[in-house]
Amino acid sequence: MESLKRALRKSPEKLQLLADLVEVSIDGTRDIFVNRPVDMEHVRYIGFDMDYTLAIYHKQEIEALAFHKTLEKLVSQKGYPEDLLQLEYNAEHIIRGLLVDRHKGNLLKINRFKQVQRVYHGTQELPVSTYYNDRVDQSDAERYASVDTLFSLPEAYLFVLLVDRQDAGLLGEHSYAELYDDIRESIDMTHRDGSLKSAIIADLPRYIYQDPHLSLALDKFIQSGKKLFVLTNSEYYYTEKVMDFLLDSDNLEYTSWRDYFEIIIVNGRKPSFFNGKNPFYLVDETTEADLPLPPGPLEQGKIYSQGNYLALEELIGAQGNEILYVGDHIFGDVLRSDKDSNWQTVLVVEELESELRKTEELRDRQLRMRRLTNKLDKLHYELHMYSSQMNTLQRLEQTEVDFTEPERRALDKTREELNSNLALCRKDIERTEKKIRHLRSEISNYYHPVWGPLFHVEDEMSRFAVQVRGYASLYTSRVSNFFFHPLERYYKSLRDIMPHDRWMELFS
Ligand SMILES: [Mg+2]
Repeated sequence: MESLKRALRKSPEKLQLLADLVEVSIDGTRDIFVNRPVDMEHVRYIGFDMDYTLAIYHKQEIEALAFHKTLEKLVSQKGYPEDLLQLEYNAEHIIRGLLVDRHKGNLLKINRFKQVQRVYHGTQELPVSTYYNDRVDQSDAERYASVDTLFSLPEAYLFVLLVDRQDAGLLGEHSYAELYDDIRESIDMTHRDGSLKSAIIADLPRYIYQDPHLSLALDKFIQSGKKLFVLTNSEYYYTEKVMDFLLDSDNLEYTSWRDYFEIIIVNGRKPSFFNGKNPFYLVDETTEADLPLPPGPLEQGKIYSQGNYLALEELIGAQGNEILYVGDHIFGDVLRSDKDSNWQTVLVVEELESELRKTEELRDRQLRMRRLTNKLDKLHYELHMYSSQMNTLQRLEQTEVDFTEPERRALDKTREELNSNLALCRKDIERTEKKIRHLRSEISNYYHPVWGPLFHVEDEMSRFAVQVRGYASLYTSRVSNFFFHPLERYYKSLRDIMPHDRWMELFS
């Protein structure tokens, strides 16, 4: 990578050539996927969220930090027993897209029909029948909380552990909802008093990954005439430190991270940025105070705070699909910017890389699964044929016809054969179904031992998949993936297919 950067500094015109070279060598896990078409040629401004978008955090380190800081608050501010401080964080236990049932103390994975497909009470798996026939109403915020951002994984895991301890009688009198609220409030405290962020700033390399292609990707956008902006909810002091760490040492021809961006907006208050009427302020970089916005356009190199999308569109003279916004938060970054502002959106889904790698590693087992399900279909067809032949035979025997002895014997023989075929068929179905069940759970466990794959549950799309599919124009695992794709690409979506569209495939 270093040699690539050196080569670029010497002769920037090689950028495209090198990009093309890298493009053919990159593996498919870093592709850019299309839900709705985006014509990059029409895009004039590209905006970026910072946390978990430009800044990729080291999962284990950042989540363990949030987990332990929250525990400290639970003990010091909420009166929870001190031995909680001994709890260990397990970064492998929770995935995104789950729902917390605050009433029952459960964690749920639901499918696109809002049916519960997996349930855990604390660390204990419960049968799905616990929610038999329940369609979960996600809009019931009093009952359900969603685990949508990577930042919400530690709090969900903490909830799991506290539910176990509550059931063991170790925490005193609390309802499950109170446990959850106490965790939430404690996490909020660590954000508000800056204890979490000051720990991150004190050791940035420990918590944040320096993506070697990030500066190259941003540079590539700029070289192709796009204007970039940052729109983050983080405060000025934190944004400055993190962005400086991410970009300052990577000098193509940029002397500061600020040189990459036309406009920098901190304290953006998303999602209300996309529907609110907050005015813009200019940040005084010494006192960090919000000053009234001076008249005229926004200036490069200055830091602005708050604001709203309509004011931004007016200030930059671009609107709607001329603006592409890249973020990691379905509701904060993508849904709102799509619903209220009509901006095009890119969702960063970090987990895509490992999910796709696992899918690749599971190729043989997936093929075997397809063979088994085909076989099952064939067996069900045979069963149906034998059963209807048996019905015909029985109807024939019930008629008043006097059969001759040889005819009678032939009928008996046919009945015997049909009975034996039916029995064999049923047995084979049972065996095949068992194999399918076994293989399905093997595949699911390979993705994730507790919750299975991120985008599926059984044969359906998961709630998370529905959100990704429904709200983002494009999705990809990280911002720097744009470096590996042609600049003015027209991102074309796949043809939407209905189940009956597959009918033609039978003939091909
Ligand atoms: Mg973010």
